[in-house]
Amino acid sequence: MKKRTFLKLTGAASAGLLVSPFIGCGNSTESESSETPKAAPPAEFTPHVQSPLNYGFDALEPGIDAATMELHYGKHHAGYVRKLNAALESDVARRGLPLEAMLATLGTEDTALRNNGGGHFNHELYWRVMQPGGASTPQGPLAQAMEERFGSFEGFKQEFASAGAKRFGSGWAWLIMDAQGQLQITSTPNQDNPLMARCVEQPGSPLLGMDVWEHAYYLNYQNRRGDYIAAFMELVNWDVVGAQFGSHFA
Ligand code: MN
Repeated sequence: MKKRTFLKLTGAASAGLLVSPFIGCGNSTESESSETPKAAPPAEFTPHVQSPLNYGFDALEPGIDAATMELHYGKHHAGYVRKLNAALESDVARRGLPLEAMLATLGTEDTALRNNGGGHFNHELYWRVMQPGGASTPQGPLAQAMEERFGSFEGFKQEFASAGAKRFGSGWAWLIMDAQGQLQITSTPNQDNPLMARCVEQPGSPLLGMDVWEHAYYLNYQNRRGDYIAAFMELVNWDVVGAQFGSHFA
């Protein structure tokens, strides 16, 4: 895979890239004119915002209940966005970067940006890869790639569900495309994600993300994470995942 495809963005983030190609360049603030030198103006900072949900809080019932969705979107995700913006406020080098590009710069020491930048990206993807009315099935090139890599769609589902079930504590299960253009199933702790190449064992470009934090299921499923995972698998919008996959070959 070409390097640039790592920076191909999800729909939500790409709009930001299109409108902000010239901000965030911390090295290019020198004035062209020979007038009195002034302090370099800070890079512009447009705070990150949550994308609106494409469906109502109750639209994923019975698999995911309305109370969970309302808290998850309205409190948990919103909290990550608020804390992300607070952390970026003082980070002049990073605050103008599109979200995915910012995540790719992070090291293990960047705790606030890992937790809250990851938290924002991960949830933006999570809301988009679910749909009311039940899962579709993978089509076209994605279906073919999954069959080659996992034997069958069923084989994929088992391995992906297992990655979510085995994640100890809080975290995410992922279907990603790695640097060789191969599909991989992986998981990360906390709000880390495969875009944080310096922080994770298996870097790559996320296609599908499943939240396995207790806040994603505990109100309805209590400790039964496996039941939540089974419900999530029945809500996946494979058209969105397929488009994400196809964008790497555009
Ligand atoms: Mn969550």
